[in-house]
Amino acid sequence: MTAPRELTVVLIGNPNTGKSTLFTALSGMHTRIANFPGCTVEKKLGLFTDAGVKITLVDLPGTYSLSPRSLDEMVSVDVLLGRQADVGKIDAVICIVDAANIERNLYLYTQVREIGLPVILCLNMWDLAQERGIKVDREALSQRLGVPIVATSAHKNLGVQELKAAIHRVVGTSVDVRRPEFPAPFYEEIDHLRAWMQQKYGKSPEPFLLERMLLDVGGESEKKLSLALSPELLPVLASARERLAQKGCRVPAIETKVRYQWIREQLTGVVDRTSPSNRVTTSDRIDKVLTHKVTGLLVFIGVMFLIFQSIYAWAAPFMDAIESVQEMAAGWVESSMAPGTLRSLIVDGVIGGVGSVVIFVPQIALLFLFIAILEDCGYMSRAAFLMDKLMTKLGLSGKSFVPLMSSFACAVPGVMAARVIENRQDRLLTILVAPLMSCSARLPVYLLMIAAFVPQVRVAKIIPLQGLVLFAMYCVGALVAIPVAWILRKFVFKGETPPFVMELPSYKWPSPRIVLHRVYDRVKAFVLRAGTLIFCTTVLVWAAAYFPEDHTPELKIQSEISQLEEAAGESPTPEQSAQLDQLQEQAHQISGRLLADSYLGRSGRLIEPVVRPLGWDWRIGVSVIASFPAREVVLATLGTIFSLGSEVADDGEENQNRFVSALQNSKWPDGRPLFTIPVAVSIMVFFALCAQCAATLMIIRRETNSWRWPIVTFVYMTGLAYVAAFVVYQVGRLL
Ligand code: GDP
Repeated sequence: MTAPRELTVVLIGNPNTGKSTLFTALSGMHTRIANFPGCTVEKKLGLFTDAGVKITLVDLPGTYSLSPRSLDEMVSVDVLLGRQADVGKIDAVICIVDAANIERNLYLYTQVREIGLPVILCLNMWDLAQERGIKVDREALSQRLGVPIVATSAHKNLGVQELKAAIHRVVGTSVDVRRPEFPAPFYEEIDHLRAWMQQKYGKSPEPFLLERMLLDVGGESEKKLSLALSPELLPVLASARERLAQKGCRVPAIETKVRYQWIREQLTGVVDRTSPSNRVTTSDRIDKVLTHKVTGLLVFIGVMFLIFQSIYAWAAPFMDAIESVQEMAAGWVESSMAPGTLRSLIVDGVIGGVGSVVIFVPQIALLFLFIAILEDCGYMSRAAFLMDKLMTKLGLSGKSFVPLMSSFACAVPGVMAARVIENRQDRLLTILVAPLMSCSARLPVYLLMIAAFVPQVRVAKIIPLQGLVLFAMYCVGALVAIPVAWILRKFVFKGETPPFVMELPSYKWPSPRIVLHRVYDRVKAFVLRAGTLIFCTTVLVWAAAYFPEDHTPELKIQSEISQLEEAAGESPTPEQSAQLDQLQEQAHQISGRLLADSYLGRSGRLIEPVVRPLGWDWRIGVSVIASFPAREVVLATLGTIFSLGSEVADDGEENQNRFVSALQNSKWPDGRPLFTIPVAVSIMVFFALCAQCAATLMIIRRETNSWRWPIVTFVYMTGLAYVAAFVVYQVGRLL
């Protein structure tokens, strides 16, 4: 018999076992990513050739077990059973296991094994296990389990060749499945079910699915089969489970008990952890502090606080560089184009608008850099563990931590991450509060307001006030989420939160490649948004602010100014200076009038009564309204409006950002400064709480499959934002 020329191999394992790293080590650069048809699960295929055989490697999402609780999880089972038409029949499975945590990781292995495919057990993180003094007798374990075992250190490419060789060895071999034995009544019920289905429908599902159906109460196999066949199946299952419970074999508890007991038997004598090195205890000691409810929380707050401070300290030189480029570009356009509509579009609309968003890239990149480092070294899981206790008290599920934490980057992946929450009520609750977390799009708004209106002083001589305010703004959303979640839990989503089991991955040095990759991904997404959505809105806003007025008087006075400036040269006479001042004042008034009479100005005055109680004028009002599709737009809009209104007083402060000084110098018609600290805070609070993000609302609609929840989110967040901004401004004014 000739060996097959093409093989399909599946890679499956718990999260954090190094699965993605192994996937890349095996298949190199040749990957294809798509979605499995009809669902949101990513289908990642790697293609490589080994010993003349073309191998397609299918990466399944990281999972702790094969008990499908959702349609998405069902995909993995379908792939393994060969029911996923676009993948086809599976020739072998690589089950990846963290060598330092074999016992727990083998749970998934026992389930995978029962499908009856040839399996290779891959003990990854072998280097870490060695360092910790964990000894595994691979030969003996392989004998006991009846599968080949390969040890790998995927991040260093060690053991990858042996793994490839093992694929060829197992394919086509007959499979002798050594598996945990359930108590006899369990198999009796399975037989009974099979017979019942055979008689009733003339067919019964694969043994694996049949067992899952009985074991997973409310699981996907039960749903799928009862939907496909008939609802009568459910009462039959219920009475089978009832009988099992009476015989001391209650599902689903029996499964964990049986599997872990079997795993422990297999590991006795082959895995030796009697000589743990100091590392384990050090890590344990660190964990004690980091997950302690007082010290852990203090460390968490401290770490977050340091991050926000360093964002300020380290980003400054990069921001200055971006700004000089932006100014050079504006200067170049101004000197090489005649004044007019197109020049205004380019300078005020494009460079002023998009530039005001791009300038924040360094700070955003730094924030993500810190978060990625904390994630990759294992700290984030400790934080999650710590927060779990807190979250449960607040009526949120511990599983909500990860979606909520992701929402600090962006609510879109955060809402999607809520899929891991099985309980529908918990999931909806998490989705509804996720957009309150301070996402990266809010950061530029805070940064701008803080740069313009929070003085660079230190509190108690040591803590810089600007960083402190930024930190406080990040807390606002999270703090408001607490009562919101509590109220929703009390009145809308009533019920108990189930306990949540989480594991702590081992500490390790963050991998620069992974960290940089994450930073790159997120910065790219941010810049793309600035380049597309924000660009378009900016141009629209610019047009609304430029038309329909006749700009000739403005052009005339500007050319007078430049003529005079040219005549005056480097050292103007006192008369020339006075004349210049006068002309500039006139120019300023003309630009202000043109802006106020533009389409934007006219509609702005219509809405002014609504935003007046928040301390805003019509310009702030329209900027905020223009940013309902995406909140970062507010910067571009403010940038455009205030540079068109050109209130930039040349006060000689070389380093002062033009935009910042335009804001600082803007006034009410009666001459009072427009932006005061209460106004700046009211704007920030509004942005912290408002649902200004079309993408988030769309994803909520998609994930909940109804318009109801995005509408609820929009209404409650916008209402909350308005009330909070009102209170903040009014209280601030009194003080
Ligand atoms: P996944 O969640 O299972 O896909 O895990 P990743 O592939 O993202 O790996 C998680 C982390 O473990 C990364 O920082 C990898 O560099 C690291 N890693 C992967 N394999 C090994 C290994 O064999 N030994 C060690 N020490 N680290 C590894």
